Amino acid sequence: MSLTLTFTGTGGAQQVPAFGCRCRACERARADATRQRGPCSAVLECGGAVTLLDAGLPDLMARVAPGSFRQILLTHYHMDHVQGLFPLRWGVGDSIPVYGPPDEQGCDDLFKHPGLLDFSHRLTPFSAFQLQEIRVTPLPLNHSKLTFGYLLETAHSRLAWLCDTAGLPEPTLAFLHTHRPDVMVIDCAHAPRPHTPRNHSDLNTVIALNAQILAPEVRLTHIGHEFDVWMMDNPLPQGFFAASDGQVIELP
Ligand SMILES: [Zn+2]
Ligand SMILES: [Zn+2]
Ligand SMILES: [Zn+2]
Repeated sequence: MSLTLTFTGTGGAQQVPAFGCRCRACERARADATRQRGPCSAVLECGGAVTLLDAGLPDLMARVAPGSFRQILLTHYHMDHVQGLFPLRWGVGDSIPVYGPPDEQGCDDLFKHPGLLDFSHRLTPFSAFQLQEIRVTPLPLNHSKLTFGYLLETAHSRLAWLCDTAGLPEPTLAFLHTHRPDVMVIDCAHAPRPHTPRNHSDLNTVIALNAQILAPEVRLTHIGHEFDVWMMDNPLPQGFFAASDGQVIELP
């Protein structure tokens, strides 16, 4: 049974183009919509079951029909990952299961006024569970809010989704070393820096991580406009790719 992941957003909270910015990457994105980057998110499909992975698209409600997906899997409760839920929760119909980290606060009044959303599915690190045909293992990440990445497994393949994160905590790195993903999707907001930034990764950090994890394919996401400018002038290492909005990857 194949696992399909569609990147619905590959930028950060700022998005590309950034409001008012005249840099080459932002001007390119204005001229060519395929170069735009919305808030980091994806749609997973396996065996006919659809999961929304994060919900930060401002127009999420207009993009997904009621009943077209089974559940929402959240990495964390920063606005750029959940803002699409604010109008969606007031919809009409069946309750929607939302899986995510056991964050006490959530975002704004989402927990206080959940509407259609069922936030009772609080996850435990390294405790695997099934979303229909996909086995999901929550992996702690390094971020300013409680954040989980996920290893998504089918009978034949493994995909890691690691966003938002500045490097990786040692237990997560060790887990990925022993459960090597075929494809690693990871936060790479910044061009190479001498030191890992505070809340997001830079390219040097991701290269160092994959020297240990050894994923054959690395897809960078949560990309900022300055990193896009850097990539216009510099190639990525072999096996590394910048994800783009609308891109689809399929694993066996
Ligand atoms: Zn983010
Ligand atoms: Zn710019
Ligand atoms: Zn975040």
